[in-house]
Amino acid sequence: MIALDYFLSNIFLFTNKMKKYDAIIIGSGLGGLTAGAILAREGKKVLVLEKHYQAGGFATSFQRKEFKFDIALHQTGGIEKTFHKDILQKCGIYDELEFVKHKYLYEAINPDYELRVKNGDIEDLKKKLIVQFPKEKKGILLWFFLLWKMGREFYWWDKAAASSKIFFAIFLCFAPFFIPLLMVSHKISLQKILNLCTKSKKLQEALMQLKGYYADSLDIAYQIPFIGGYGYYFDGGYYIKNGGQNVTLALKEVIEKNDGEVLNNLEVEKILTEDGKAIGVKTKKQSYYCEKIIASASPFIVYEKLLADWAGSRQELEKINKMEVGPSLSQIYIGLDASVEKINKRFEDSYLVFVNGLKDDFYKDIILAFHSNVDTSAAPEGKTVLCITFLDNYKRWDLPKEEYKRKKDEELKKIFRLLQDYLPDLEKYVEVVEFGTPKTMERYTGNKFGAVYGFSQKVGQAGFDRFKNQSPLENLYFASAWTRPCGGFEGAMRAGYEVAKLISESFKK
Ligand SMILES: Cc1cc2nc3c(=O)[nH]c(=O)nc-3n(C[C@H](O)[C@H](O)[C@H](O)COP(=O)(O)OP(=O)(O)OC[C@H]3O[C@@H](n4cnc5c(N)ncnc54)[C@H](O)[C@@H]3O)c2cc1C
Repeated sequence: MIALDYFLSNIFLFTNKMKKYDAIIIGSGLGGLTAGAILAREGKKVLVLEKHYQAGGFATSFQRKEFKFDIALHQTGGIEKTFHKDILQKCGIYDELEFVKHKYLYEAINPDYELRVKNGDIEDLKKKLIVQFPKEKKGILLWFFLLWKMGREFYWWDKAAASSKIFFAIFLCFAPFFIPLLMVSHKISLQKILNLCTKSKKLQEALMQLKGYYADSLDIAYQIPFIGGYGYYFDGGYYIKNGGQNVTLALKEVIEKNDGEVLNNLEVEKILTEDGKAIGVKTKKQSYYCEKIIASASPFIVYEKLLADWAGSRQELEKINKMEVGPSLSQIYIGLDASVEKINKRFEDSYLVFVNGLKDDFYKDIILAFHSNVDTSAAPEGKTVLCITFLDNYKRWDLPKEEYKRKKDEELKKIFRLLQDYLPDLEKYVEVVEFGTPKTMERYTGNKFGAVYGFSQKVGQAGFDRFKNQSPLENLYFASAWTRPCGGFEGAMRAGYEVAKLISESFKK
């Protein structure tokens, strides 16, 4: 019996060594799956290897009792008016997804005023801010003008880059006329632009309400929020019906329908090299060979572990270890045995609520996401799925096991107490609760410090200075939140699109 097993496994190994893929993708984050779907649709043979039991990285859900929790997605910006739509179409999933546009982009509860922002209605927001800050009218209008201009420039850039090489070359010659802001924006800090528009700290905070979607400080390149912000404010924030996982499932289906494979529970342990080129990958049980490798896993995993034997890794690690890693988030996933109306009637038709200026040394700003108000499949009738999210710090959680668990309980109680005015008696209704800390995020995705948007988007690391999607090791590419252009659902998918384009072009040569 043992001999037969040995014989069969060797046959299996042999046949797989012969099997050559066009592209192997390490990890099934959105960046990797997007690249995979585009290449598979172009007829390339694609294999995705994922270490987790399900695909998607952060773009997944989990179930506890009757509650379904979206790991990550609050909303993604700009489906209709930005290049995001073109990318979804190129992947073949635009028509498969249903985009839910909640009534409000967000609601902000500040210590001295509140703001309900209608989704995709920029004029309404401008008016409300001018009423709140009448002396700052010029600054408000300038800010939104820059936001609009930047969003348009980025769109033109995307369209030109996606067209023929000749057209793009002509576009680049005239770039200072077409995209002046885009060209300088990665070299200027966001704080400087905010200061140019207004000196009022209160207004600056209101203009940067969605800051948590990009960074944990305003010391980032001014390009970043303007790119994402254009979509959120001028088009709207969208949730995906049945959760962010649906994007993953749709991409996976495209890969599989086009003769590709997405295999879970398979951790890549090594990238195989030969003559200074990447030629395949190795899991615990076998090796797979291919033309091109795309890492959806972070560059730290690639150079510290998967390419530990490659001579060039030391230099790459020196580079990335000097770079700043972007923000981590914590998210508390709560299933409540009560309707939102019963918990607090004021939130009965709310989705994203930003509670700002809390009186605490650490928890100043907290986001409440009433998921079951935007996705009725998340909880049964009369019950609620609420996610509480905040920017966090990995070091706070880097503790021995028992202390870590104790800290989770203590912090949870503290947060409930802090939110008492808005969610009275919340604890009484809790049926299930899971506290996802940056350590949890790191455990599930391998992303250093649980970073959700890859490297920080600060000046020197953003825009044209972003971590490159092509490794100095031939045939190896990166497609994830860590690389160009940025993190988030849209950012990671753009990264995947850019890498697919590079690889398609290299196959044509
Ligand atoms: C709480 C939270 C809220 C968020 N909210 C939003 C939001 O509202 N809007 C938005 O746009 N974005 C949001 N994000 C961010 C967004 O989810 C991420 O930026 C994006 O999904 C990252 O995609 P990625 O391609 O970098 O891959 P990741 O999601 O990082 O996935 C990497 C994958 O690689 C796998 N992997 C790693 N190493 C290996 C290996 N050796 N072998 C095989 N597989 C491996 C991992 O298991 C993982 O599946 C949020 C994130 C979090 C955590």
